[in-house]
Amino acid sequence: MMSNLDKIIAQVDERQDELVDLLATLISFKTPAPPARNTTEAQTYVAQFLEQIGFSIDMWDVYPNDPNVVGVQKGTKSDTHQSLIVNGHIDVAEVREDEAWKSDPFQPVIQNGNIIGRGAADMKGGLAGALFALKLLSEGDMTLAGDVIFQSVIGEEVGEAGTLQCCERGYHADFALVVDTSDLHIQGQGGVITGWITVKSEKTYHDATRRNMIHAGGGLFGASAIEKMTKLIEGLQELERHWAITKQYEGYQPGTNTINPAVIEGGRHAAFIADECRLWITVHYYPDETYEQVTQEIEEHLLRVAEADIWLRENPPTFEWGGTSMIEDKGEIFPSLQVDPNHKAVKLLSKSHKKVHTDPVTIDVSPSVTDGGWFSEAGIPAAIYGPGDFLHAHAVNEQLSIDQLVSFTKTMIHFIYHWSNQKKRQ
Ligand SMILES: [Zn+2]
Repeated sequence: MMSNLDKIIAQVDERQDELVDLLATLISFKTPAPPARNTTEAQTYVAQFLEQIGFSIDMWDVYPNDPNVVGVQKGTKSDTHQSLIVNGHIDVAEVREDEAWKSDPFQPVIQNGNIIGRGAADMKGGLAGALFALKLLSEGDMTLAGDVIFQSVIGEEVGEAGTLQCCERGYHADFALVVDTSDLHIQGQGGVITGWITVKSEKTYHDATRRNMIHAGGGLFGASAIEKMTKLIEGLQELERHWAITKQYEGYQPGTNTINPAVIEGGRHAAFIADECRLWITVHYYPDETYEQVTQEIEEHLLRVAEADIWLRENPPTFEWGGTSMIEDKGEIFPSLQVDPNHKAVKLLSKSHKKVHTDPVTIDVSPSVTDGGWFSEAGIPAAIYGPGDFLHAHAVNEQLSIDQLVSFTKTMIHFIYHWSNQKKRQ
């Protein structure tokens, strides 16, 4: 005899066309970021989908025309049973005019068992599978004792605060699953923080004074901010090498903890000595570190480099870390996320995966970053688990295997049902 849950899981095969249509519909909403500010229509669709299966909806603008959607389904025994957040982002990577797509990236096509379109792998596939799993559980009248909170957020591709705002608004649960691209591995992640390092001269000088500030007898205590920045860049390279040698985290190639001097701006024009230079850096750090720690290490090191330079000692660099958006204030933070393989949600998810796939799940670390770290920051145990692989995320002809979408959806049904019907730890 098949259990009711097994019957519902079997429906994913029977209703596969409906699942693929749902993903195709999500892809057809043009939500690339940048340019962003284009998700109201897609988010309204997600909100209506959730409403139809019994969720109450909270929808608010994070930015104009970029609303978050949170759907809540109260469990029948909320107080005693485990709650779950399922999180995904509705924005997709940008598409440039000159990209050689085989077909329109927002009119998905199916070829050789894959669905091709922008966001198929990252991560409208994860959203579609999770939504469809909840729909089948609802239509099958499966009782869920714990609360289920579904978050469809904006801005992930440009480091915006979609998920952070959900946490700040008070959405909390016993576990959060981020269904972003992981090729069905259970993953944690390192963190990323961007920062601006500024070297600034208090005074501005004419280009003709250069001799006076660099040669014997010139008598002018001044410097080019651009030339002084090169010392700090060398300092960053030393620290980066030191990190590569001394820090390690299982699952990462040594030296994945990089400091990238990504953008440099400086000087006014050719008739001036450069009185300001700004360096935009990207820092990758390991899951067991915080951005507070790594930025402090960078500041301490560069201030010592500055101490050893006569001019920088008097004109030390200043630092601005993070930001709320790569397109609004040129900065972002993705906090790191450590996954505890012994957490009972991770164990259950492993079991759900094995039931559907037969092979055991791989638990490792994401080569990229997701919104998962915000849950860690908010004190909510979390993991990443979603369909799609990184070869296809952000790529031309981005695609997702329909088989993987189907098996992900089945795993989600099993996981959500069993998690929600377990008692909270006393
Ligand atoms: Zn993603």
